[in-house]
Amino acid sequence: MLNGSMSEYLVSTKSYYNYPCSHRQWRHPGHCAYVHGYSRSFHFWFRCHQPDEYGFVVDFGGLKAVKALLDEWYDHTLLINRDDPLLSSFQTLHEQGACNLKVVDNCSMEGTAQFLYEQVNTIVQASTQGRAWCFKVEVRENDKNSAIYERDQPTIPA
Ligand SMILES: [Zn+2]
Repeated sequence: MLNGSMSEYLVSTKSYYNYPCSHRQWRHPGHCAYVHGYSRSFHFWFRCHQPDEYGFVVDFGGLKAVKALLDEWYDHTLLINRDDPLLSSFQTLHEQGACNLKVVDNCSMEGTAQFLYEQVNTIVQASTQGRAWCFKVEVRENDKNSAIYERDQPTIPA
């Protein structure tokens, strides 16, 4: 057991790999405006002051909702920003079965990390009754590039 000091934490991490996911950055002046795809991976850092009765920060068996969230949004999907001027064309392709369109605020790795931070925190804090929280999310598009969103203080869901 930890001594209960508010400055002392336990941290655990959970990763998910190989999500085939495409997107485009329509504002970008270079080739990122083209639809292109990656094998995305997702990495979450969890923190608590006191572990559960098994000594875990987060019981990963309770994270099925995280896997379901990632499957829904990033498995064989096409992420298009809400303000993309070609959005209606992509919606037509979706209706015709050519893609699994997901409309998002920001399809970048940064935007994805921020989106997942909120979603996963809601799941983790609910499953641990607020004992643990997610403080950092990394989204990788490949071996070379990633973005991280992190926050020092826990977000208490409304
Ligand atoms: Zn790109």
